[in-house]
Amino acid sequence: MYQNKKIFILGMAKSGYECAKLLASTNEVIITDQKEQPKDHIDELKKLNVQVEITTDPLELFDESFDVVIKNPGILMSHPVIEKAVELHIPVVNEMEVAYHYLPEEVKIIGVTGSNGKTTTTTLIYEMMKSMNLPVHLGGNIGYPLSSIISKIKKGDIVLLEISDHQLLNFQDFKTNISVLTNLCPTHLDFHGSYEAYKKVKQKIFAHHTKNDLAILNASNEESLKEMKNITSNIEYFAGQDAYIKNNAIYLQNEEIIKLEDIKLKGNHNYENIMAALLVIKEFGLDKNIVNKILNDFGGVEHRLEFVKKENEVSYYNDSKSTNPVSTITALKSFESPVLLILGGFERSQDFYDLKDHLKHVKHIYAIGETRERIAEFAKDMNIPCTKKEFLKEVILDIKKDVQPGDVVLLSPASASWDQYDKFESRGDEFKGLI
Ligand code: ADP
Repeated sequence: MYQNKKIFILGMAKSGYECAKLLASTNEVIITDQKEQPKDHIDELKKLNVQVEITTDPLELFDESFDVVIKNPGILMSHPVIEKAVELHIPVVNEMEVAYHYLPEEVKIIGVTGSNGKTTTTTLIYEMMKSMNLPVHLGGNIGYPLSSIISKIKKGDIVLLEISDHQLLNFQDFKTNISVLTNLCPTHLDFHGSYEAYKKVKQKIFAHHTKNDLAILNASNEESLKEMKNITSNIEYFAGQDAYIKNNAIYLQNEEIIKLEDIKLKGNHNYENIMAALLVIKEFGLDKNIVNKILNDFGGVEHRLEFVKKENEVSYYNDSKSTNPVSTITALKSFESPVLLILGGFERSQDFYDLKDHLKHVKHIYAIGETRERIAEFAKDMNIPCTKKEFLKEVILDIKKDVQPGDVVLLSPASASWDQYDKFESRGDEFKGLI
């Protein structure tokens, strides 16, 4: 619990706002953001005696009198306020770390992180737990700050959290009972500075673990095995000894759970997500009927290799959530038909050459966004025809002329959307609207 502290919240948005509400009654709180915020949120916080400041120079408001800084996960550690806090030895934490201290006793915390597959795996666990009538609460990076659900959580409940590396970075005491690391690959390097730094941050998902806590790791992902070899948790492996595929079915420790043909989600990456989820569910008493029912039915989360429509024998897929080359490779592996691939977006030095061994079915590349020049060069090197335009809506016009029956049109940009959109969902929605 935070009490009688002077607190500086840097970055408002949803999580800063929820966190300020949690802290307001027992602390002195100031919250700043450089962008305008919803008026009703500002008014509500002011009523709670929170000082709200919309300013591009928050450093002016910050000094050594503060006890703690709560940083929005998207803000860099090189932000002037954060640099000053570090210099003054003022702790820098985040909203989830704060909310953790407000949880009732004996809750069971499950944390899901990884480079790819977090949302899919978290959603699968949640759907199964709900069907099992377990007292589960969903939060974190998936869209509901932990602070916003705290009041609903009761003693002994289960708290299921999707956790990004940006969130892990500023954890201090936060500890889970069960942690899943779906996989590791180089991503978000602009934020963390290096792959080494990124991997170190990911280890924090197992922080403070003892043998009584469970770590669920991907045995087929050498990077995570190598990096996590010193963790102190009890470990179980998916795509390995504890959950694996045999005779076209998923097995948990010698027991067949479900046949692959009965699973609606497709692709090896999704089988990995399912196996990770099942190892979590096993801890709460796995019911094969429930697992089968959910997996027969669950077609995936929106914007993740989402089937949009089939028209004139052409299939359209929205994979706007693909924000790095590894997830685009995953998408490409899912198709045997000719693919018209839309690539590009926010420039963060991602290496498009990572895709080079997976282009067998790609017959045309459409390069968009800030990275379009680099993609066009890459396509030329690969001998794949390329159309280069700034905006998605422009290439869709070309695509409509280029498609032939049997083709797949795939938006899987291997890039974040922030050069042109506020979030990947907006890019995916625009794609769906245009087609
Ligand atoms: P995250 O929440 O980690 O971004 P999502 O479940 O939202 O993960 O999926 C993001 C992207 O990664 C999608 O393009 C999806 O098809 C792909 N993906 C999902 N699971 C995996 C996995 N286990 N390995 C590699 N790629 C994956």
